[in-house]
Amino acid sequence: MRKTIFQFFHWYYPKGKLWKQVVEQAEHLQWIGISDVWLPPAYKSSAGADGVGYDVYDLFDLGEFDQKGSVKTKYGTKNQLINAVKVLHRNNLSVMADIVLNHKNGADEQEKVSVVKVDFNDRNKVISEPIEKEINTKYYFPGRNKKYSEFVWDWHAFTGVDECTNNGEKCIFKILNEHGDLWDDVVGDEFGNFDYLLGADIEFRNPNVTAELKYWGKWFIETIYADSLRLDAVKHISPQFYKEWLDYLNTTFQKQFFTIAEYWSHDLKFLTEYLDVMENRVQLFDVPLHHNFYEASKQGKDYSLPDIFNNTLTATRSQSAITFVDNHDTQPTQALESFVDYWFKPHANALILLRQEGIPCVFYTDYYGGSYTVNGNTIELAPVPHLYKMMMIRKYLFEGQQCDYFDHPNNIGWFVSGTEENKNAGFVVVLSNSDDGFKEMNLGGLNAGRKFIDVTESFADTVITNEEGIAIFPVKAGSISIWVKEESLDKIK
Ligand code: CA
Repeated sequence: MRKTIFQFFHWYYPKGKLWKQVVEQAEHLQWIGISDVWLPPAYKSSAGADGVGYDVYDLFDLGEFDQKGSVKTKYGTKNQLINAVKVLHRNNLSVMADIVLNHKNGADEQEKVSVVKVDFNDRNKVISEPIEKEINTKYYFPGRNKKYSEFVWDWHAFTGVDECTNNGEKCIFKILNEHGDLWDDVVGDEFGNFDYLLGADIEFRNPNVTAELKYWGKWFIETIYADSLRLDAVKHISPQFYKEWLDYLNTTFQKQFFTIAEYWSHDLKFLTEYLDVMENRVQLFDVPLHHNFYEASKQGKDYSLPDIFNNTLTATRSQSAITFVDNHDTQPTQALESFVDYWFKPHANALILLRQEGIPCVFYTDYYGGSYTVNGNTIELAPVPHLYKMMMIRKYLFEGQQCDYFDHPNNIGWFVSGTEENKNAGFVVVLSNSDDGFKEMNLGGLNAGRKFIDVTESFADTVITNEEGIAIFPVKAGSISIWVKEESLDKIK
């Protein structure tokens, strides 16, 4: 079966329900051909049950201890999480855990520490004398009281904290730890060095820290039985650390964890560099492809559809590409806001689910829809049209050769042929970002004289290929049509 990932949460998912909903939906996810379910960060956030989980307070608190105002995390209790994973496994679904190791938030105490201010836009530039300052770096987790780990985090475990101002300009406090004013080596050169993202930034050059994080990784996987990993914010973390950490886990568990890293950049150069440095231990989200989807959705008919895979990982390193349309960070008001316009969502989902290249990751609100309020505005999202059918086509009909007709700026298409053994497999996709259009395709002798139906129901008339397998497949303005052989319709109902 083709690998298909489902991101089973979004930023505005209501609190207290997610682990329960995982249980309710597991069987359905398996039915629609999902192989891996990506769950949100499962540990206690500095915002307690209100935190999405990327502002980690305690990695060992999976909804078990009364900390930050709540025993539960946003998603429920530890027992509910463990049960949810069990139910996913019972349905043959792999569980992908979200690993957030770049920073911590919500310190238990302050410490008086020597720091310097560095320029926000060039973090290699020190702009103050050493200052003694009370900073948020002491973590000892009184609510957990040393269960599972006695490790106490202090200023030696961090590189920097908090944004500051200096004569009205933004700056960051660099902690003068064993490495002085030098940040850790990361891939890329944004802001001079982008080791620091937010909160208290973890110091991976401290061997006590890396030992604790290895111990935690083993504990976490043994506790919830995660099968695969999604690494958050790797742009801000030394690749040396993750190489060592992944090798440790792979050796410990005698398996190769399927691992996706999130390196957020539109620039293919940095993604390629990261893959090379990691020596292919990880796959990467194809952020440039998401960016192309976003641009195409904003530019409408001015976007040249044949360019949709330009400068993407999917086009250049498809073996390493995880394709996606949107995620929790691209939603309205989030840090990386770039939500693909609704009219283009069917196009974009077809371009991830019905293509040979890349492993697709379907986003929660695209499949289920959603309703949430941001800055007083209520956003209502209907499920993306035809997405269920696309998943079923991927599951049952994706066999044979893929052939592209990326030959018109506003109207592209492709087909997958089916095979001698499964002649009813295969499908035809046609996309428009402007007027009504059509694509004449030659599906070959294998598909001669076959009747095709448009599963999007834009066209009631069928299309029949001639004795050479040639036919004209139409599409309505600004939409998509997906044609399958009449005999296969039952499979995707
Ligand atoms: Ca960092």
